[in-house]
Amino acid sequence: MDENNVKVIVPKSGKCSWGKCIFCGYGKEEHPVNVQVLKAWLDRQLLDFSGDTLKVYCSGSFLDDNQFPPEFRRYLVEKCKEKGIKHLEIESRPEFITDEKLKEFEGLDLMIGIGLEVADNDALKRIAKGFTVEDYIKAANLIHEHGFKVKTYLLVNLPIPNARELFHKSVEFAKKYSDKIVIMNLLPHGRTPMLDMWARGDWKPLSRKEFEGWVKDYLDDPKIEVEFETFKFVPSIPPEKRVYLKGVGKEFVDHPWYNIWQDWFARIYEPPAGRDIALFVPCSYTKPYSRSKTHKLIDRAIKSSGKEKRVHKLVISSPGVIPFEFNDHYPFNAYDWDEKLETPEIMKFYIEKNAERIENYLRNHKNHYKYFVAYFRLEAESLEALKRACDKLGIELKLGYDPETYKKLVEEGEKKPLFRAELLNQLSETLKNLD
Ligand code: SF4
Repeated sequence: MDENNVKVIVPKSGKCSWGKCIFCGYGKEEHPVNVQVLKAWLDRQLLDFSGDTLKVYCSGSFLDDNQFPPEFRRYLVEKCKEKGIKHLEIESRPEFITDEKLKEFEGLDLMIGIGLEVADNDALKRIAKGFTVEDYIKAANLIHEHGFKVKTYLLVNLPIPNARELFHKSVEFAKKYSDKIVIMNLLPHGRTPMLDMWARGDWKPLSRKEFEGWVKDYLDDPKIEVEFETFKFVPSIPPEKRVYLKGVGKEFVDHPWYNIWQDWFARIYEPPAGRDIALFVPCSYTKPYSRSKTHKLIDRAIKSSGKEKRVHKLVISSPGVIPFEFNDHYPFNAYDWDEKLETPEIMKFYIEKNAERIENYLRNHKNHYKYFVAYFRLEAESLEALKRACDKLGIELKLGYDPETYKKLVEEGEKKPLFRAELLNQLSETLKNLD
C-alpha cells in the first residue's frame, strides 16, 4: 500500500453511545461536539493530502448523529468528492447503520468497520458488547445492499470460556459477511474491567509469541489483517486508582499494580535495541530515581566508562525489576519502602518474590543482553534475589566493584559505600572492560 495515498484521521467528537465494552477505554472519552470546529479541523487535516483513500477512526460510531452531526458527515463526503478521495473508511456500531445514513455516502467506495469482536451471543454478552450477532448480520447485509464494503474487527484472547475455539469460529463466520477482517490483540485500556481482571490474576494479555500462535492460520489470507499492537501499549493505572504505596510488608511487594507491570515487563516489553549490558542497580528514596544522588553518581560512572549507549539500567526494588526508562511511570514514582522497618520474615518474602520476578524477566530477555552487572550493597536483599535468579538460569553475574574494597570501606565506618568514588570508579572500569 502506498502510504502517501492513504490518510488516517481521528476526529475527537462526542462520545461512544455505548461505552461499556469491558476492554475499551476510548468509549468512555467525551469531547465537545462542535460542527464548525470539526469542519475546520478536517480542512486542516486534508490540506496537503492528494491521495485517494481516507480512513476515519473515531472510537464510537461515525454514523451516530449525537457523536457526529449529519451536517459534518455531509461536509466530509463533499470534501472527499472535491479532493478526489474515492475510498472512505469509517466505523460504526450496527444500530446506526441504516438505509438513510448509507445514502449519504453514495458515489464513494465506502467501507464500514464494525467491532464484532466475537461471533457468539453469549460471549458478546460477557464482554458487554451491547449488540447481537443478528444485529451485525443485518447491518452487514444492508451495507452490501448499498454496494459498500464491510470490515469486521475480531479480538483474540477474550475473557470467555472456549475463547480460542470461539475465535476460530468467529473468523470463519466473519469471512461470510466481510470484505476485510482485522484480528486484533486484546490489550486493556486504563479505565476498564479488563485491567482489574489482569490485576486479580483472572486474565492476562498475550505475548507477541502467543498472539502469533493464535493467528498463524490466517497470515496468508489476503482478506485478513492481524495486529499485535494498534497503539503503543503500556499498563496504565487510571489516576483515580493510584495510591501512594508507602509501607513495608507483603502487600507492598506483592501489590496488584506491581504485578501487572512485572508480568508486562517479563512477557511483552522489549528492552531497547543496542543496550546489551544489563546493569542492575538499587532504587532511591527520591522519586523518580533519575533525580536522586545515587542515580546521578551511577550515571556519571556509566558515562565515564564510554559504554553509555550500551548500558540498560534495571532497578531492583519492592515493585520488582524496573527498566529505568519507566522510572517516572506510576507506581514506580509513587512508593516508599523504609528498610529500617524490615523484619526477617518480610526480607525473606522480598527476596523470594523478587528472585521469581527477576527470573521471569531474564528468562524471556536474557538473549537480549551480553553482560549482566550488579551494583548493590553486598548485603542487599535485591542482590541476593538477583543472584538466585541468575544461578537458576545459568547467567554469569558480575559484581560492578571489588568486594574487598567494599568490605574495607564498611570496616572504616562508611554507611553509604555505593556513593564512594572508589566503588564508582571500579564500576566504570568494569563496564569499560566489557567488549
Ligand atoms: S469498543 Fe467501540 S462500541 Fe465498545 S465502548 Fe469502545 S468505542 Fe464504544
